[in-house]
Amino acid sequence: MGNYKYGFSTKAIHTGETPDFREGATGDVVSPIHLSTTFARKKVEQPTSGYEYTRSSNPTRKALEEKLASLENAKHGFTFSSGLAAETTLLLSLLNPGDHIAAFDDLYGGTKRLFNKVFSKYNFGVTYVDATISENVRKGINKSTKLIWLETPSNPLLKICDIREIASIAHENNILLVVDNTFLSPYFQRPLDLGADVVIHSSTKYIGGHSDTLGGAIIVNDEEIAEKVAYHQNATGAVLSPFDSYLTMRGLKTLSVRLEQHQKNAFAVADYLSSHPKVKKVIYPGLESHPQHKLATSQTDGFGGVLSFEIDGDINDAKLFLEKLQIFALAESLGGVESLIELPSLMTHASVDKEIREKAGITDTLIRVSVGIEDINDLIDDLKQALA
Ligand SMILES: *Cc1c(COP(=O)(O)O)cnc(C)c1O
Repeated sequence: MGNYKYGFSTKAIHTGETPDFREGATGDVVSPIHLSTTFARKKVEQPTSGYEYTRSSNPTRKALEEKLASLENAKHGFTFSSGLAAETTLLLSLLNPGDHIAAFDDLYGGTKRLFNKVFSKYNFGVTYVDATISENVRKGINKSTKLIWLETPSNPLLKICDIREIASIAHENNILLVVDNTFLSPYFQRPLDLGADVVIHSSTKYIGGHSDTLGGAIIVNDEEIAEKVAYHQNATGAVLSPFDSYLTMRGLKTLSVRLEQHQKNAFAVADYLSSHPKVKKVIYPGLESHPQHKLATSQTDGFGGVLSFEIDGDINDAKLFLEKLQIFALAESLGGVESLIELPSLMTHASVDKEIREKAGITDTLIRVSVGIEDINDLIDDLKQALA
């Protein structure tokens, strides 16, 4: 199924899952879950349909990989057992000891931990810059820089980086641009179309969409990068299982309708909170008050379902509010159909030094919400009673 011929939802439903009408095939409209770890062949030198062993390649995983690639308008997709497994495989594929990464200073904490505590042992350098100002990225690169690593919007402050501008800085210097596209998913943002070289996903979030399957992906167009990633995916082995591939594929089929509803609800929650006297500030890229609303509009088709806000009071007021909620689950993670809410200073970002956290804007009373797709009246009523 050609990449550009069909619309997003058509590709999400059909790519990688074309019914097989050959003699003896059953014409399944949904890809079967191929649990087999090994594939028998009739002739010593001819693997049946190209499959040998599931770590190297599996038909269910392949169906998902084709579907995901098509949604990012890309040629190649690779899926892994988690977002961090995808990141690890990408770093092993593209870097040698001594190489350097220029990274956005507001990256997902687990990504920073991977850079600072794991890869640092093997002599990879990292410089963090405020990439919301593209020129800062230029200042953060040096002769050893091989990758620029962005995440936009960021978490939990929802800062936006200019993908087009930073891609041209990268390419002027023979550097590859990696964009973590977890927060918006390909439905709202396609970084490869804007000039990025590699897209990374935690499919645990919106792509899976139901908080029931962990996974990650690398998506690229370039043949040389694809070859390296394919080699390392097999050689290091952190692949997505056939069952998780099926679950992720099932989630992907409704990505467009889910994200439309997530966004609709997020706007309603942002509007409600913006006018509430106990709320000091609401951060959502869809609001005109967001300092980078224009940039967001110029590079995305939407603003997603995550927002942050600060309540008026101290940390105990924030805790009391969170513990009073009935529908919003007090939990880390995001992107599932159910609304999740958390206090970054004591949960997702607790490991960041208080001083660094506060300087960045992650105060004790900043709350992050992943707005789900429940009935909006119920969500607003829940916020209303907990704020009261
Ligand atoms: C969750 C997340 C990751 C890590 O993914 P896992 O699936 O948890 O390993 C990476 N980047 C972002 C933006 C995330 O939200």
